[in-house]
Parts: sequence; C-alpha cells; structure tokens
Amino acid sequence: MKTTEIIHHIPQSQQRQYLLVPFEMPAATERVEIAYAYPHNQNVPLEAQIGQFTQKERVNRIDLGLIAPDGSQVGASGSSREVIFVSTTEATSGYHPNPLNPGTWQVMIGAYVVATEGVDVTIRLTFTPKTRRWLKGDLHTHTLASDGILTLEHLARHAREHGLDFIAVTDHNQPVLRASFPKVEGLTIIPGMEWTHYQGHANFFGIEKPYEGSFFSNTADEATNKFRQARENGALISINHPLESSFGFHFDLDVIPWDLIEVWNGPMRPRNIETIAWWDQMLKTGKRQVAVCGSDYHQDTVFQRLANPTMNVLSWSASEGDILEAVRAGHSYFTYSPTDLQVTLDVEGKTYGDSVRWRKGLEACLHAFGLEAGDQVKLIDQDGERTLFSAPSQGTWQAAQPVSKPGYIRLEIWRTFYPGLPMLPALVTNPIWFEK
Ligand SMILES: [Zn+2]
Ligand SMILES: [Zn+2]
Repeated sequence: MKTTEIIHHIPQSQQRQYLLVPFEMPAATERVEIAYAYPHNQNVPLEAQIGQFTQKERVNRIDLGLIAPDGSQVGASGSSREVIFVSTTEATSGYHPNPLNPGTWQVMIGAYVVATEGVDVTIRLTFTPKTRRWLKGDLHTHTLASDGILTLEHLARHAREHGLDFIAVTDHNQPVLRASFPKVEGLTIIPGMEWTHYQGHANFFGIEKPYEGSFFSNTADEATNKFRQARENGALISINHPLESSFGFHFDLDVIPWDLIEVWNGPMRPRNIETIAWWDQMLKTGKRQVAVCGSDYHQDTVFQRLANPTMNVLSWSASEGDILEAVRAGHSYFTYSPTDLQVTLDVEGKTYGDSVRWRKGLEACLHAFGLEAGDQVKLIDQDGERTLFSAPSQGTWQAAQPVSKPGYIRLEIWRTFYPGLPMLPALVTNPIWFEK
C-alpha cells in the first residue's frame, strides 16, 4: 500500500468555486481511498444570561469529488463523506467502480464555505496495488433472454452461491447492457453474446454491441463481416463447441477472426475429449492457440450444472478487463466444478499462457492440490502424453519436471467419477510455451 498526503490551501477569495487537485494514479492500482480533513468549526465565546456560552460556528464546508484522466466524473459526495474509495469492481455509494488507469486524476474540492483566513484541506490518498489471484467463473451461460430458465439476477445469485467470482452472460444472439446487470457482491458479470447461426456458434465477450444491424447472415462473407465488426469493437471471440454434431462450427477458421476455442463445453463426454485432442494437434504444429471452457448453462439437470466446467483464471483483479485479459492470454485451467482440485505450474515465475526461453536444465515445478485416490496427473507435450503420478489417496503432490526441449507443456488430471466407468479429465490446463 502506498499513501500520499496533499495539503491544499483555499483562500476565502475562492469560496463558491470548484477546485481541482491533480494526483498521479500509480500503474496497476486496484483500489484508491481518498480521505480529506479540514477544520469544520470555530468556537465563538458569547455572553450568556448566566456564565458564558461557546457557540460552535460552521466556518468551512468543503465538498469532494473525483475526476478520471478523460475528464469524466467518477463520483461526487458533497460534504457528507470524509472517506471514499473506488476500485476496479466496487466503490462508495455516489462513486462508480472504475478501471484505475495510470495517469493524472483529479480530486475535486468544492469550496462551498471558506473562513476569512482561508482553510487548509488535507487530502490523504491510499493506493492498493493489484495482486494476482486465481478466480473461478463460467464463460458460457444462458438466461431467460434466450433459452435459459433463470433471470440474470437469479443466475448471478446462483453463481455466487456456487463460489464463482465471475460469469459471462452469453444469450443466443442477444447482446446485453452492463447497466442492466444486477449487483451481486463478489461477482463480476461480463457482457457477452453467443452468436448463434445454423453454421456455427461463437461467444463474443466484453462487448455490449458487437455489430451493426442484426445477427443473421446468409453468406460466409456476411458472417465474416459480423466477426470483423465484433473484433474491431473490442470483443474477445471464442469458437464454441466446434466439433458438436448438430451445432459444430462450419465457417472457415482461416478466414473468420477469432481468439479462443471452447474445448470443454458442458459435462465431460467423448465430444469434449475429441475437441481437446483436435486442439492439441494445433499446439503440436506450433500454433499458440488458447483454449477456454464453458458450462453452456441453461438450467440444472442431471447432467448440466452451472460451472461444470469451471474456468479458473489467474487475474490481476476481479475487473472485467483483467479477467478477460487473463482469458485472452491463456492464464487458465479448467475443472469439472468449482472444486479445490488445482495444479499450479511454475517455470522461473512463469505459468500457463506464458512463454519462456528454453535452455538445458530448465525445470517445471508442479504442485497439485485436492487430489483424490486414483487421480492421475498427466503431462502432455509435443512428443505425446505420459502419466506422471497416480495419487494413492487424498492429498497434494509436488514435483519438479525437467523441460527437455523447446515446445509446450500442458497438464491434465484424470479421475474415476463413477466406479466401473472409464476415467475422465477432471482438470485441463492451457499450455506454457518454451522458445528456442
Ligand atoms: Zn452453442
Ligand atoms: Zn450456449
């Protein structure tokens, strides 16, 4: 935490003016707290019928506000609050959560009432830096706005009760406005849309209006144009359930702009295993393709549940921007539920989605948590797949694994979910890359 104090003198001649006090927002700030103090009253001794009376007289009244570098009002609180905060996801009432971009911000002080001798206003700024943390979420959900059965508010509460930190709302061909989002403490809602076409489905994340006009298109060129517009408008684009038999993706992936592949859609089943293998082939040819997962939640059924699978992302904050940046970079792994099952990978401070220069003697440090008896930890690289470890019982496992050559490494944990049935992936990570 970093604290700065500014003392700003206001002469009485500036009474009734709005004054701006600039300050620099440090890079990578998650939260700023602004406290201000000044002498409010002056004691005036007065003659009384008996003895002496001291009158408390309001001599200064100063208002507070905050202005972002682009000149927009982040908030204003009159003289009613002595401390306010703004973070990337939350803020004091009267202020908006805001990305705390580095640059020159301004505290607005309104000199409503100023004493004859002027007033010193002490402004104390406390900056909390961002710290990286793992967040759990679901990038593929439907509500009543398409063919889900929950309102967005109900879905958001359901997500929080399941321990999720974020959801993307991705109704079929229905964009959604951030202003319509319910407030659920601890949950970040990401605007999205599942572009849904007879020839394929794709999620557009982080955007309210992906393209002009309507979703439909009867030619590949028109479809490509929708994707281009969405990309230009800032959408992160995921190709959904690409190999699904009735809803597979049939547009040309070499022509259409896209960023991510949804390799794990809904409950783990043979189609997802095929899709993971298809993605892995891309990795083997050196294509640095980032994968995502999503439950495609519509309602709770025997098979379908919210956050089955769960997207685990290593994010700098719980803001929409930081979560989507972590998704884009592949700083993520997928689990069958918001479980404790986790495997961290550390190669000289780098992890999933990162790139490291390869050298002889390089080691990958693995640390698996939440293992159940029989769980198998598998390592997949450009040469194939091998089981590194089978858990003898519940527990955690730690190991250093040599990185024998340039290429990539990714991890999977397989589990027997039902006795007698084949093992299935319970966890799948994005790759880390090793450059020549
Ligand atoms: Zn779909
Ligand atoms: Zn869907």
